[in-house]
Parts: sequence; C-alpha cells; structure tokens
Amino acid sequence: MASLIDEIRNRIDLVELISEYLNLKKVGSSYRALCPFHTEKTPSFYVSPQKQIWKCFGCNRGGEHFKFLMEYEHIDFKEALKILAQKAGIELKKIPKEIKTKIDEILEVHRIAAKFFQEKLQLKKEIIEYLKKRGLKNETIEEFQIGWAEGNLSDFLLNLGFEKSTLIDSGIFYEKDFELFNRFEKRIIFPIKNSKGLIVAFSGRSLDEEPKYLNSPDTLIFKKGENFYGINLSLPFIKESKEVFLVEGFFDLILAWQSGIKNILAILGTALTPYQVKILKRYINKIIFSFDNDEGGEMATLRSAILVGQTNIKMERAVYEKKDLGEFLLDHKAEEILKEDLLDFWLKRKDTKTLMEILPIFLASLSDIALRVEYLKKIQQYDIIKIEWLIEAIERVKKQIPKIQVTEELPTTQKAPERRRYDLLVESIISISYGLGKKDLIEEIKEFLPENLESYEDLWEMRFEYEKSLNNNLEGYLEHLVRELKKEFYRNKIKEISQQQLDEEKVKSIMELTKKLQKIYEEEKRKK
Ligand SMILES: [Zn+2]
Repeated sequence: MASLIDEIRNRIDLVELISEYLNLKKVGSSYRALCPFHTEKTPSFYVSPQKQIWKCFGCNRGGEHFKFLMEYEHIDFKEALKILAQKAGIELKKIPKEIKTKIDEILEVHRIAAKFFQEKLQLKKEIIEYLKKRGLKNETIEEFQIGWAEGNLSDFLLNLGFEKSTLIDSGIFYEKDFELFNRFEKRIIFPIKNSKGLIVAFSGRSLDEEPKYLNSPDTLIFKKGENFYGINLSLPFIKESKEVFLVEGFFDLILAWQSGIKNILAILGTALTPYQVKILKRYINKIIFSFDNDEGGEMATLRSAILVGQTNIKMERAVYEKKDLGEFLLDHKAEEILKEDLLDFWLKRKDTKTLMEILPIFLASLSDIALRVEYLKKIQQYDIIKIEWLIEAIERVKKQIPKIQVTEELPTTQKAPERRRYDLLVESIISISYGLGKKDLIEEIKEFLPENLESYEDLWEMRFEYEKSLNNNLEGYLEHLVRELKKEFYRNKIKEISQQQLDEEKVKSIMELTKKLQKIYEEEKRKK
C-alpha cells in the first residue's frame, strides 16, 4: 500500500494538482494562494514544488497530495486514492479490494436503477413524444439519462443479490405490508448526480398526479438542500467563468444546456439553501437568477438573494418575457437572454408596495456596506421610495435575516493542530535567517533553540516567502523575533520549574530566569 501511495505522489506534481483548485502565484521558489480552508484577505497558503508539500501559515494546515484533496473535497482517504490514482494513470485494480460498504451498494443500486428506467423509457413512445414536445432532443434525453419508472425494478435488484434493506435505504423503495414499492412508479425520471457524476438520487415528474415532482428522501448519499441538479456537467464551466445561471426546474436546466448555456445549475428546491451558497462561494463571483416569471419564482429569488447578499457574490437577473427560461429558449437563442442587476430589475418592474416589502430585507442582508450605499443612491434616483423610511426599515428587519455564517469555515476532515508559540517563533527565525543568509545567527542563539532543527528547516523557503509578504523590514523583524523567542524560552522554563515541587535551588533558578527575562524587557524599552 505504501509504495502505491508513494508512486501516486511521485507521478502527480503537487503544484499542478493544487492549481486545478486554487489560483497559485509564483513567489520566489514557492507558490502562493489564498487559503481555501480559512477566511483571509492576504495569502498565507504556500506550496513547495521542491518538497511537494503545502502549508498554510494562517490556519496551520498542511500536508501533501492526499491531505489537500481530502480537506478540499471533504472526502475520505479511499475516495482521494481513487481520484489521485486515476490522475496518476494507475489502474484502479491495484487498489486492494475492500468490503463493499453500504454507500457503495446504494450508489450501485442507483446506477442500475437509472439504466433500468432508461430502457423502460425506450418502450414508452408517448413519453418520448412528450419530452420532445417540451423541446428535448434525443441526444439530450440520452445525456441526462432521463427515464421512465415502470416494471418490477425491486425483483430485478433482489435477483442481482442486493438486500431488501439496501433497496429501502436507497430511498427508491418503501415497504408496505412486507412488499416493496417504487416511490417513483409511473413518473419521468431525472437522475440527480453529484459533482463526480455518480447518481445519488432521483426526481420523478408525474404527468397527472400531485405532487408534480417527487424527489428522493434523505439517504446516506443524498441530503436535501445540499445538491444541485446539473453540477456533474456544469462545474468545469462554472469554475472557468466564475458565473452561474440558477434555475428552478429540470426542464429549464436541460433546455438551457441544450442551447449552449453550460454554466448553469438547478437548485432542486424552492430557494437556495445556506449550504448551497457556501458551495457556490467557492467557485463563483456572480449569480444570474433565472427563476420562473411568477410569484413563486420571485419569492425564490428574494429568499436566495438574502443569503447570497451575505457573500461578495454579485447578483443579476436574467430577463425574458416568458413563463420560464426553458420556454424562452424554445424559440430564442442563449445570447438573447438579457441580464440586469437584480436591484435594477426589481426597481423597473415592481410596484411600490412590493418594493417596500422586499427592499428593506434585501438591503439589510448585504454584508458589503459600500454596495448597500450604492444601492440606496440608486433607489433614490428612481424616486419611488423615501430613503429615510428605507433606512429605518432596514434597521427594523435586520434581525429577521437567516444567517449563512459566511465567515465560518467549511467542515474539514481534520482540525488543524494547535502550535505552540515557541515552535512558531523558531520556525520564523530559522526561515528568515536562512532567507537573509544569516545562518550564523542560528549558532549565536543556539541555547534558545531546540536541539533538532530538522523539522523546522523543512518549510523554511515557503515560510520565508510568507514572512516577506507580511513585513518589509525583515531585518528588524528578525531582531524582534529573537527577543520574543528568548522571552518565550525563559517564560516556559519558569513555568516548567514552578510546576515542580519547589526547593531552595529551584526558587533560585526561577529568580535567575526572571532576572534574565527582566533584562530583555529593559533592552526592549531602550530600543523604543
Ligand atoms: Zn489557512
């Protein structure tokens, strides 16, 4: 196992790997980016091409290929191994076969079920006709693996050896009087895939029954409010354009995709959830709301905008004089979609009463104060609402805003280790001394340093770049650090001794150490 992991690490350049996720800039012999694991404005995340390691000096996380992927994608080691092995061009067969977990089985059930539904659709000419009437081409039906739920899928799966409990856990079936029922029976099936292209749930569209759309319940692999429809196809385009069209429905998304809009997602619910906003925040800086042109769509836009307002994502609204984006694209080209700033869209089209309802909460949600001021100015120009009233109203509704806690970090697989201040000081001093070519200083202050410096030397090039980015007077800073190191050294010593049983000798050494500490304080005062 160890050799396989090493082989993968050797074959994949860490800088290239991380470049797929972060915007790395070369600084000195290292690369640097804003850390994806904590919120920051100046970059403290470094990658060393020589050592093939990464390190964030801000939040103290660090590691190699596997650690990065696991933390970034929130996946376990096994999943990271699969992805990296593929990138490295190593055959998956070499990965030791593990006992199939429940999750793997449920994924497999979904994969097989989707195939089953697809085959059933081919026998259902009238449903294919219906899909075509809605504007879908044959190859689109194929690409989105649209199906039709009919026939005895449960027996088919049981005969393949799946346990009854697995079928129930998949969410596709429910049990009644010891019998399994397909909850999507006689519905058009839209498989919902995760970003890796694995089917994790289904949505079923009924032609005559309520509810019109039925989604999978929460399962081990699907959680309501945490997924987007279409992400398996559109994510690369979203990452590239840093913009996303958000739509409500399956047909909207599919028709838009067919018309060439590739950076698009459907929200799979009635509005964006805080979780979804957090995901989007990683990839985009602009959302183009493209919900239905009806009351439900307007509500969804407002509710989503209140969450998005707490990020620095720009918000626009797609403009089309049709019921929804899908219908518009039936006889229009993608390029004909107009976009307007969300606020302008509302100001131009909503009556005063509606504006008085939506504007206070929308403006109150904006975390960007400059943008709020800009918007207030704009509203003033439209001269529909009294600004004094609006400002007061904003204050009133502030408390009602559901928080997405944008500053909160995404859950990571492992908590970053706490580091002692002493260790950090040693690391900084060594890195700066090496960087400035002052190795003799290390010798000079040897008595304050740990005996073995190897682990601190490991990161020095990256750490030096980091320190350089924070200080323009490194010489002076180094002097300061050395004083801090000495103080920390004495303080730790004093603490250490005072925790022991005190005798005369120990008291004496505490006194001595305190004197030395005092001397540094005085020296410091003189410097100032
Ligand atoms: Zn960090």
